[in-house]
Amino acid sequence: MIQKIIQHVLFPIDCIRTGSRDILRYQEEYEKSQFLTRQQLDELSFSRMKTMLEYAYNHIEFYRQRFDEHGSHPSQIVEPGDLVSLPILEKQDIQNQWNTMVSRKHPVKDLVVDRTGGSTGTPIEFYYTPQRSHSRTAATWRHNGFVDWQIGNKTALLWGASRDAPDIRFKQKLRNYLISRKLFFNTAGFQPDEMAAFNQQLKKFRPKVILAYANSLGLFANYLKNQGITAYSPQAIVTSAEMLTPENRQLIEEVFGAPIYNRYGSREFSVIASECLERDGLHVMQEGLYLEIMKDGRHVQPGELGELFVTDLLNFGMPLIRYRIGDAASWKPGDCHCGRGLARLTNIAGRTTDFLVGFDGRLCSGAVLTVAMVAQRPSLGQIQLEQNDRGCVICRIAPKEGQTTEQDRTFLTEQIHQYLGPGTSIEFDIVSQIAHEPSGKYRFSKSTLKDLF
Ligand SMILES: [Zn+2]
Repeated sequence: MIQKIIQHVLFPIDCIRTGSRDILRYQEEYEKSQFLTRQQLDELSFSRMKTMLEYAYNHIEFYRQRFDEHGSHPSQIVEPGDLVSLPILEKQDIQNQWNTMVSRKHPVKDLVVDRTGGSTGTPIEFYYTPQRSHSRTAATWRHNGFVDWQIGNKTALLWGASRDAPDIRFKQKLRNYLISRKLFFNTAGFQPDEMAAFNQQLKKFRPKVILAYANSLGLFANYLKNQGITAYSPQAIVTSAEMLTPENRQLIEEVFGAPIYNRYGSREFSVIASECLERDGLHVMQEGLYLEIMKDGRHVQPGELGELFVTDLLNFGMPLIRYRIGDAASWKPGDCHCGRGLARLTNIAGRTTDFLVGFDGRLCSGAVLTVAMVAQRPSLGQIQLEQNDRGCVICRIAPKEGQTTEQDRTFLTEQIHQYLGPGTSIEFDIVSQIAHEPSGKYRFSKSTLKDLF
C-alpha cells in the first residue's frame, strides 16, 4: 500500500517538483518498448545509432575531425556491419580531448558532470544532458522492474563507492525517508564488527531488495556463514559493479535464502544490461545504448566471446560513440521466456577480472581463473593476479594464516600453467592485504596489456 502511494503519487509529484517530469515519460516509453520484438528493438537501436552519428558529425568538433581523418562518414553506415569501419573511442581520448567532445548545441554549464572511479586505471570525467540524466533514471527503474523491484520498495545498498551514499542534508534525508527508502552501507574497508552491525540494521529495516557489489556481498555472506549468524532474507538480491562468480552466487543465495539477479552497468552509461526473473542472460538497455561485440575487427556471432563497445544513443551533450569499455561478453542466442524482445548478453567478463594472456598468446578470463584457484582452495586467502607483460603473471597473495605453504605455491603454479600454458612465468608477491581499487572494488585480475583481441 505505502509502496503504491509512493510509486503513483509521491514519486510523480517529486519528479514534477524537481523539473524531472521527463523521467515519467521515459518510464512509460520503456515499459512498452521492452516488449517489442527483437527485430523491432534492433531496428530502433540502429536507427538511433545513425541519428547519433549524423548529429556527432555535424555538431561535434572531435567526431568531425576523427571521422574525416579516418575517411569515414555517417552516410556510409547503411547496416550494422558497416559500423566496424568507424573509429574506436578510447578512455584516453576523453581524458585528453573532452573539451572538443562537447556539443556546440549544449554549453558545458548546462550539462551534468560525472566521473568514473578509475577501476581500470584511467579515471575520466564526462558530461551528459539533464534529459539524459532523466532517461538514465527511467532506464534503471525499468530494469529494476525486471525483478519486481518497484519505486517505493525499501532497498539496502552494500556499495563501495561512498559518493553514491545518500545526501545527509535534511531535505534529502526527508526525501529518502518518504520516497527513496534506502539503507546505505559503504563496503570500502569492510570490517567484521561492521558486518554484524549491518546485519542487525537489515533485520530492522527489512528491505525488499539488496543491491550490492558482488564481491562485497560475497565477503559478507562468508562472514555470516562462518559466524553461524542467520542472515536477513530479502525478496531479491541484485549484484552489480563487480564480476559475480558462480561460487559467490551459490554462497550468497545459500546464506541469504534469496535469488540473485546480476546486473551490468557503468558510470558512463548507467545500467547497460540486467537479468530478468528467468536469469538466462542479461537484457540490454537497447533504447538508450548500442552495443557491439568485436573480435578480429568484426562483429562476433551469437555465443562468440569478444570485446564490448558501447555507444550512448541519447546523450547529445557529449556523445560517447563506439567506446571501449574494457569488458568482454557474448550475445545470448534465441529469445527469453519472459517475452521481452531486448537482446541479451552473457559471459560478461573483464574490468574487475581482466583477461590474462599466456606465454603462447592464449587468453583466459580472470573469472575462470577465480573458479580454478580461489574456489578450489579457499584456505589460500585473497589472491590477485597482475599482468604487465605477455606470458608473465604476478600472483599476489594475502594469506589467511599469515603465510603460504609450498603446496599452495605448487597448486597455484599448476593452475596458472593449466590455463595460461606451461611457458607462463609466475612471480609470487606475499602481502598482508590486497588493496582495493580507488572505486572501492577488489579486482581479482588486472592487466595493463592492450589489444588482447
Ligand atoms: Zn527475460
